[in-house]
Amino acid sequence: IKECFVKMKRPRSLFFSLLKGQKLTLCIVLFCMALTALFTFLPQQIIRYAVDVVLAGNPSFLPPFLESAVRFLGHNSVLGRLVVCALATVAVALVNSLFTYFRSKLSADVAENIAFRLRCRLYDHMQRLPYDTLLSFGTGDLLQRCTSDVETIRKFISVQIAEMGRAICLLACAFFIMWPMSHTMTLISLASVPFLLLYSYFYFVLAKKNFLKAEQAESDMSVALQENLTGVRVVRAFAAQKAEQEKFDRASARFRDLSRRLNDIMSYYWSISDFVIYTQVVLTVWIGTTMALAGTLTVGTVITFSSYVTVLLWPVRQMGRILADLGKTSVALKRINDILKTPIETDTPGSAAPDISGAIEFDHVSFGYQEGQTVLHDISFAVKPGQTVAILGSTGSGKTTLMLLLQRLYDPTSGRILFDGRPSTGIQRAWLRKHVGIVLQEPFLYSRSVFDNIAITRPSSREADVQSVAKMASLHDSILSFEQGYQTLVGERGVTLSGGQKQRVAIARMLLQDTPIMIFDDSLSALDTETDAAIRAALAKRRHKATTFIISHRVNSVWQADQILILEQGRIAERGTHEELLAKNGLYAKLWRLQGASKEPLERGQD
Ligand code: ADP
Repeated sequence: IKECFVKMKRPRSLFFSLLKGQKLTLCIVLFCMALTALFTFLPQQIIRYAVDVVLAGNPSFLPPFLESAVRFLGHNSVLGRLVVCALATVAVALVNSLFTYFRSKLSADVAENIAFRLRCRLYDHMQRLPYDTLLSFGTGDLLQRCTSDVETIRKFISVQIAEMGRAICLLACAFFIMWPMSHTMTLISLASVPFLLLYSYFYFVLAKKNFLKAEQAESDMSVALQENLTGVRVVRAFAAQKAEQEKFDRASARFRDLSRRLNDIMSYYWSISDFVIYTQVVLTVWIGTTMALAGTLTVGTVITFSSYVTVLLWPVRQMGRILADLGKTSVALKRINDILKTPIETDTPGSAAPDISGAIEFDHVSFGYQEGQTVLHDISFAVKPGQTVAILGSTGSGKTTLMLLLQRLYDPTSGRILFDGRPSTGIQRAWLRKHVGIVLQEPFLYSRSVFDNIAITRPSSREADVQSVAKMASLHDSILSFEQGYQTLVGERGVTLSGGQKQRVAIARMLLQDTPIMIFDDSLSALDTETDAAIRAALAKRRHKATTFIISHRVNSVWQADQILILEQGRIAERGTHEELLAKNGLYAKLWRLQGASKEPLERGQD
C-alpha cells in the first residue's frame, strides 16, 4: 500500500487538496463513526449483563451508580431488570441509527462537494488547455474522465472511506472492550484479522492491475461509440456499419473479458474470506464453550465474544473491497490528474491587448505539427485592413493550417505573423481570437434556439441586431418559416437544419461578432449559388470594415478577392488578382478553365 501511495504521490496531493474546507465536516463524520462503533458493541454487553448478572446471579461488572440505576428502574426484580435491559437495547439502537444517519449524510455531502469541485476544476482546466493537447486526449476519453472517473472518486469518499473508518473504529473499540473481559478470548477472536488484512492487500495488488486494464478497455469502448455517433454520416455514407460494428464488438468483448476476470478475482476473494470468517466463529465458540465448561469463563462472556467476532470480521473483510476500490480510485485520480497537470495555454509575460485594425503580415512563416514535419513553407504575404484574401488550394495543401496560425491555435515554427506590425506572439491569445471570426466548413450548433445560436458571440444582443445579421446571411426568411421563428430549437433535440442553413447561422453569428478579421473556411461551398451571391453582396457592403479570408478549392468562390494565393503543398505557388493570374496563364488560369467558372451571378463591379 505504501508503495502504491508513493507512486500516486501527485494524485494523493490532488486528493488532499480537494478535501480543503471539508475538514470540520470530516471530523464530525469521524466522531459519529467512533460513536457508532462503540454503540455497535453495547447490545452484547447488555445481553451479557442480562445472562450473567440478572439471570445467573453473578457479581455485576457495571459501575456501582449504573447498577443502582438498573435496580431502581427495574424495581429490584429479575423481570423488571430484564425489561430495563430490553429498553436499553432499543435506546442504544435508536441512538446508533441517529449517529449512523449523520455519518452517512455528512460523508455523502463531503463526497458530493468534492465531486462538484473536481468537475468544475476539470472543466475549467480543459477550457484553458492548448488546442492540440485537447485534440490529443480525444473526446470519448475526456468524457470518461470527467464522468465515470469523478463518480469513482465520489463513491470512494462517500462509501468506502466511511467503511474503512468504521472498520478501524470497530477494531479499536472491540479491542478495548474485549481485552479486560478475557485476554485469551480476545487473542483467539482476533486471530484471523492479520491474515484477512494481509489477504486483502494481495487481493488489492492483483485487482488494481486489472482495474487499470478494465478502465482502459471501457474508455476504448466509449471512444469507439463516440466516434461512431459523431461520424454517423460518414459511417452510413460509406456503408461502414459492419466494420464499425466489428470495431465496437472487439472493444466491448475486451471489456467483458476483463470485467469477467475481475469478477473471478472478486469471487475467489469472497469465498476464501467467508471460509476464514466461519472458521474463526467456530473456533471462538468452541474454545469459549470449553472454557465455560471448565468454569474459567461465564456463559454471557462466550455469547458476547461469539457475537463480537461476527460483528467485527465482516467490516475487516470489507477492507479487501475497500482496498480494491482504493486501487480503482487511485487509477481514476491519476487519470484526472493527467488532465489537471497538463500545462494550460498561457500568454508570454507582457503580452498586450492592442487595437486590431485588420492589417496582417505573414513574414517567412513555416510550420509543422510535429518535429521534422513541415506543413507550411516560408509563407509571406501582407493584407491591408478591409481587403479580401482568397486562399485556393487542393486538400492537404495547408489552407486550414494557415488559418489556425492566424487564430494562434498554433504558433509558427519559424517566421512571424504581424497584426498592425506587432508580432502575434506578443498579443494575448484570447484577445486575438476575439478579433478573428471564423465560419467553419461544418459549423457547430448548440442544442438551443436559433436566436441563442446566433447571439452566442454577443449574448446581450438585441432582437433587432440578431435579425439584421440573419437578413445579411439570407437566413431571416427561413427562420420565419419555422413555427416558433427565432425561438425554434435546433440541434440534437430540435429541428434539423440543412448544411446551408447551418452555414448561414454560423455566418450570422460571425457578422454579429463584428470582428475586424473574418475567415470563411470553405464555408461558402455548402451554399447554393443564389444565397452565396446574396451573402457576398451583403458582405461587400461591409467590405471596408473587415479583413476577409476566403478559403476554397473552387475558383468561382474566390475570383473577387483583392489578392488570391494559390497554395500547393504548403507553398505559395501563385499570387495576384483574378486578372493578373489569368494573364499569367498558370495554375489559376488552368483551374478557371477546368472548373468552368464564370463571374455569374455577381459581377465584380457590383462590390
Ligand atoms: P487543407 O485545409 O488545405 O485541406 P490542412 O491545413 O488541413 O490542409 O492540412 C495540411 C497538412 O497538415 C496535411 O498534410 C495534413 O495531413 C496535416 N495536418 C493537419 N492537421 C494535422 C494535425 N493536427 N497533426 C498533424 N498533421 C496535420
